[in-house]
Amino acid sequence: MMKKTSDLRKDFPLLETKMNDQPLTYLDSAATSQKPKQVIDEIADYYNKYNSNIHRGVYNLAVETTDKYENVRHKVANFINAYRDEEVLFTKGTTQSLNWIAQGYVRYNLHEGDEIVTTYMEHHSNIVPWQAIAQEKNLKVKYITLTEEGKLDLDDLKQKVTDKTKIVAVTHVSNVLGTINPIKEIAAIVHQSNAILVVDGAQSVPHLPVDMQDLEADFYVFSGHKMLGPTGIGVLWGKYELLEKMHPLEYGGEMIDSVTTEKSTFKVIPWNFEGGTQNIEGVLGLGAAIDYLEEIGMENVARNDKDLQKYALEKLANIKSIEFYGPKDPNQRCGVVSFNLKGIHPHDVATFLDADGIAVRAGHHCAQPLMDWLGVSATLRASFYFYNTYEEIDKLVDSLKKVEEFFQ
Ligand code: PLP
Repeated sequence: MMKKTSDLRKDFPLLETKMNDQPLTYLDSAATSQKPKQVIDEIADYYNKYNSNIHRGVYNLAVETTDKYENVRHKVANFINAYRDEEVLFTKGTTQSLNWIAQGYVRYNLHEGDEIVTTYMEHHSNIVPWQAIAQEKNLKVKYITLTEEGKLDLDDLKQKVTDKTKIVAVTHVSNVLGTINPIKEIAAIVHQSNAILVVDGAQSVPHLPVDMQDLEADFYVFSGHKMLGPTGIGVLWGKYELLEKMHPLEYGGEMIDSVTTEKSTFKVIPWNFEGGTQNIEGVLGLGAAIDYLEEIGMENVARNDKDLQKYALEKLANIKSIEFYGPKDPNQRCGVVSFNLKGIHPHDVATFLDADGIAVRAGHHCAQPLMDWLGVSATLRASFYFYNTYEEIDKLVDSLKKVEEFFQ
């Protein structure tokens, strides 16, 4: 059974903070989650108790740190049910993972005229790396349209994925609409054309149980900082046979087997990708974050999220001038609620909320093509995690009502 929210909140020092002399109401976990003391302590322990570089020293401290680092790789593999630990590469985050796929896989395996298909609901990190490599290699980038409610139009997907398509890059959960995309169904369509499915899991891994062996994606990427871990650490998971076709992007120390003045040979996967001293504290912090999430249980996290979101959608609907974006059915979405108050700029609303101690995001959320599709320049976004309470949602609603009155 999941611990009470009030008990879980005690693990998060920052939730005790005040903002503008008000208790902080943190509704921006889609940007970055808060960190429990277990994660913070793990990082402090590393520096206080066993700071040393990995994969190098033969002395005990270094061996201990290397074991802990590699143990997190195993933990990540377990957490996402990868086929094997070696499929887990540590990166800086989702953005770097997608760039590695573009520059390390697409560069060497796609050819002039090949096509990459992505969607109108992507974060810029799942658009710009494809555009950049496409321009260089004369590839074409196509976009799948959305239904009126903000779900992927699977008929359009079926039409756009052809024999020319080599990569389909889709988010699992939209960071603006909250839409949960049916990855398994998408994978079946993509694989019929022998294309490869890249999934952006930045917003799904923190909130839903994910299973690589069940989802049937080919690459799946995510960031540690949105799932209780530190910034600067993320994961690129890929099927082993695809990692074999991918080239490293960081050449230098750590990733080599031997070096002469003429030629170098490299370590095996995954260590050939992890050049230079790694973000050791980040990896260890990510390990502690996974332990924390596993203790709660991802099924519980997902259920709690859904309940909070359902409550928020119901309560927010009482605000007269509200316009929602994304699927109406709470079962088809997760984590975020995006909206506008008709006639009031979202930045003005966010400034008012800030004065009441409420942190929400206002802007284009790094999804400008989606904003164009919605016909707005920006939205407000409240995003939830298991440490949020129903009272915090009530506070948001009360504050929004005040904003509405003020601008009337
Ligand atoms: N993809 C999605 C869906 C996101 O929400 C984000 C971050 O907001 C990213 C990619 C980029 O993640 P990062 O900045 O951690 O690389």
